[in-house]
Amino acid sequence: MNRRQWLYGAGMIAGAGQLSFGSAAASAKADNQPKPLDLTQYEPKSMLQVHETHIERAKYPVIDFHTHISVAAKSSKGVELVAERQYLGTPKECLDVMDAKNMRAMVNLTGGYEHGLAQAVAKYDRIHPGRFYTFAEPSYSRCKEPDYPRVQAQAIEQAHRDGARGLKILKTLGLYLRENVTSGTLIKIDDPRFDPMWDACGRLNLPVAIHVSDPLAFFTPTDRFNERYEELNHHPDWSFYGGDFPSNAELLEARNRVMARHSKTSFVVLHAGNCAEDLQNVSKTLDRFPNMHIDIAARIGELGRQPRTTRKFFDKYQDRILFATDATPHGDEYPQQVFNDKLYEIYFRFLETEDEYFDYAPAKIPPQGRWRIYGINLPEAILSKVYYENAARVLRI
Ligand SMILES: [Zn+2]
Repeated sequence: MNRRQWLYGAGMIAGAGQLSFGSAAASAKADNQPKPLDLTQYEPKSMLQVHETHIERAKYPVIDFHTHISVAAKSSKGVELVAERQYLGTPKECLDVMDAKNMRAMVNLTGGYEHGLAQAVAKYDRIHPGRFYTFAEPSYSRCKEPDYPRVQAQAIEQAHRDGARGLKILKTLGLYLRENVTSGTLIKIDDPRFDPMWDACGRLNLPVAIHVSDPLAFFTPTDRFNERYEELNHHPDWSFYGGDFPSNAELLEARNRVMARHSKTSFVVLHAGNCAEDLQNVSKTLDRFPNMHIDIAARIGELGRQPRTTRKFFDKYQDRILFATDATPHGDEYPQQVFNDKLYEIYFRFLETEDEYFDYAPAKIPPQGRWRIYGINLPEAILSKVYYENAARVLRI
């Protein structure tokens, strides 16, 4: 028993009669109480002395399959409403980072549609051949028109002529797009209205980069049991718990029905198959659908905290995993996807080293959840596939 505990015990026995002794005991008792600490103020420094590898350039040339250089100039309730693009980074800004990091090419997934798409291709892909590839997006605001299925399939053909290298599906489909575009009931991912669009992509060899659903924790209450509590607390609109949202499983099943129905269309299921927390689920889906690839964008936080499972997963699916980050120029608000040197160095460290317990994003507080990650030290043969060859094949470079 130390002196403080002894005083505390003695004080309890002495009772209130002995004032001076009693108050000393009370203040000792106060010292001993756990002090509340605001979670946002908590920034523990790891005392682990572990090896830190600094990888400035990727070992092999890289294609970042998942970036956002342009976005729609106007969106409402998660739905892009206009063809016009807003540009987040100039080609020069991008090329400076790309050249420094050994990045051969960036895929700008959110190229939009119609004249917006044509302009994005002209500004990036055409002026810097081989460095930028732009994807098209559906024009959802037309989905109420009676001949939308045919119009949308034709728009894919036009996008192909305009230089699009694939089609991007944001989580808009399944979580935001409604019968009256931004109101009414949610439109399902496997709604038959989109069938001609998926088929057109297959016919034209345009891969579909598809994001459905979100981290599993986004479908559970934002409470003290939620592993992404701080992230959801910062962005309450990212929660899909309650309301009329489908469950995560329903979203993935609808996506799977699309892949089953359109076996000649190639799908790259983004964000580690949108189920990075459960790689067994992703494995089963990859085994079931030969027309499916995945990327790792914004999911090294999940993959890197289960490094042994992830490493085996990369061994098994080494021909079907694409390097990607979700990088956004000037996206400082979201450090896990900000387009800069530091972000790429973290990805390279994760893939190329066996470093332990490091941050998955360039941020003071881990933005997605309070954990750190471990490198998976991929062998060279797998690394070069994941960095470049798999994406080159999918993009038909
Ligand atoms: Zn993205």
